[in-house]
Amino acid sequence: MNEPSASQPLVIIGNGIAGITCARHVRKRSPRPVVVISAETDHFFSRTALMYIYMGHMKYEHTKPYEDWFWVKNNITLVRKYVVRIDTEKRELHFDDETRMMYGDLVLATGSKSNFFGWPGQDLKGVQGLYSYPDLQRMEADTQGISRAVVVGGGLIGVEMVEMLHSRGIHVTFLVRESEFWRNVLPAEEAALISRHLREHGIDLRLNTELKELLPDAQGRVRAVVTSQGEEIACQFAGITVGVSPNTEMARQSGIACERGILVNEFFETEVPHVYAIGDCAQYRTPPPGRRAIEPLWYTGRFHGETLALTLTGKRTAYQPGPWFNSAKFFDIEYQTYGDVKANAAENEKAFYWEHAGGKMSFRAVFDAASQKLIGINVFGIRLRHEMFDQWLREGRTVSHAIEHLADANFDPEFYRTFEHEIARAFHTQTGITITPRPKSLLRIFKRPQYS
Ligand SMILES: Cc1cc2nc3c(=O)[nH]c(=O)nc-3n(C[C@H](O)[C@H](O)[C@H](O)COP(=O)(O)OP(=O)(O)OC[C@H]3O[C@@H](n4cnc5c(N)ncnc54)[C@H](O)[C@@H]3O)c2cc1C
Repeated sequence: MNEPSASQPLVIIGNGIAGITCARHVRKRSPRPVVVISAETDHFFSRTALMYIYMGHMKYEHTKPYEDWFWVKNNITLVRKYVVRIDTEKRELHFDDETRMMYGDLVLATGSKSNFFGWPGQDLKGVQGLYSYPDLQRMEADTQGISRAVVVGGGLIGVEMVEMLHSRGIHVTFLVRESEFWRNVLPAEEAALISRHLREHGIDLRLNTELKELLPDAQGRVRAVVTSQGEEIACQFAGITVGVSPNTEMARQSGIACERGILVNEFFETEVPHVYAIGDCAQYRTPPPGRRAIEPLWYTGRFHGETLALTLTGKRTAYQPGPWFNSAKFFDIEYQTYGDVKANAAENEKAFYWEHAGGKMSFRAVFDAASQKLIGINVFGIRLRHEMFDQWLREGRTVSHAIEHLADANFDPEFYRTFEHEIARAFHTQTGITITPRPKSLLRIFKRPQYS
């Protein structure tokens, strides 16, 4: 296989956060031709904002971070087509309209797809997952005028779907396999806090409950779900949100090595020369320290895209993501997690947990029992500063340091009530260690938050 010349296009399949970030960063560093292909939409949009379109807070146009002229101006060619196969020998893509395109380097940024586990009735009208813009359009059409819905699967997309339906006055039954909402990820206290919160919003939360089948009406539309307990729950819409899987089919059929995701090394290289994979579809052969092999997350896709762009423009760079971070929202309660907070603490770990009397805010610090070094933080209802925890985790700071300097990590506006003293008192009660929280340092007061 010949080496590609600088004039041969870099072709990226997928116009999500990973593919588009890669395209933009390559363009910043190089004039080489860049083509981005997607079958889903003409332009990049924020997948995480899909719920706000349904809830009427935004229009689709508002979810596009760049104006449509941006791509022409930056000489990034957008192609709206579906790739059915890659001929990796000839470095050629085959489209479903039987046309072809040559590439110099190829980036697979094909994202995820919703899981369906073969339930009877899963193909009925009114039964769907939520991943793509067409999914949102289908949900919009199929929930017009309905009064009852069931959402199956208690993860982050599930709770968003519940909130979306609830915002339209639709009664929602939420089937969750675990003993509390997201108990497979959250420690017991936080899982209980969110479960309670969902119920307070009027959600019919069914714990320890799984889907068995979906029943049709005479028109072939869902009329009820049957649970693992044999209960029949009437509904006119069923959201299936039992996780996502890397979208690998086309790569797999083209002979590119995959396990659950498309296998890559720390440079995002697949086994095939000049073919890379990033974002949700990629699976590290050896995950970076403290990270998972597959990370279907917005931030991860962005970092992947930025890092790969360096390699593609002559600065071969390994991916070094640093401590894990994620955030979400459960109705009106914000959640942030830093480092490694397990659903059940490991033997070498200790945890400090504070919950506000109102039951809507909490703070957990997990630390090494011997060294007291921070391992992870969970916070609900209080906004903390990502960069601060990232720094403390990288520097190996102790839990006491974090409690003492918590004001520096506070991201809530100045006039919000703060809880550093209350948290320090709870820390004393639980650990016997007395800490006097320091006021926010002047540097933090004057440093404006950085949004990106
Ligand atoms: C409702 C929802 C809420 C979310 N909320 C959060 C959140 O709060 N925080 C967070 O971190 N993450 C969140 N996520 C996850 C996050 O959106 C994804 O991790 C991220 O968008 C994945 O980006 P990506 O670039 O890897 O792939 P994608 O955005 O999936 O883009 C892949 C694109 O490739 C296209 N494609 C695939 N195969 C082909 C082909 N053969 N030919 C042509 N085009 C193809 C697809 O159609 C798609 O447009 C959420 C996801 C959803 C669905």
